[in-house]
Amino acid sequence: MHKSNDDCIFCKIINKQIPSDVIYEDDDVLVIKDINPKAPVHYLIIPKEHIININDLKESHAPVVWKMMKVVQKLASELKGAPSFNLVINNGKEAGQLVSHMHWHFLAGKNLGF
Ligand code: AMP
Ligand code: ZN
Repeated sequence: MHKSNDDCIFCKIINKQIPSDVIYEDDDVLVIKDINPKAPVHYLIIPKEHIININDLKESHAPVVWKMMKVVQKLASELKGAPSFNLVINNGKEAGQLVSHMHWHFLAGKNLGF
């Protein structure tokens, strides 16, 4: 069992208390479709442990962060057309982080022009 937070919507999704469109899952990482997509492909890459955001990361999280990055590579390799994407992290409330459980937005199929 991973460290979970009872009030967290992503922990509820991870624990299958709330349904989601699962794209990929392993012991440590879940990828779901964003419910409000900002691009033709919009996935959320979520560690199963309730890590708040990058500021909350510790050395011991290195394996899961690397695992998330490998999932990014896998998702990119499965894209139709070019393996091009935007990886967006809203880190902290003032930067638009609405859900206090770290997640990376994987967006493709649209040039977001960052
Ligand atoms: P952020 O603003 O970076 O915290 O992003 C939160 C994201 O979670 C938003 O893009 C929402 O559309 C998405 N989201 C919220 N609830 C759900 C849900 N139940 N299933 C899938 N995505 C969700
Ligand atoms: Zn959580």
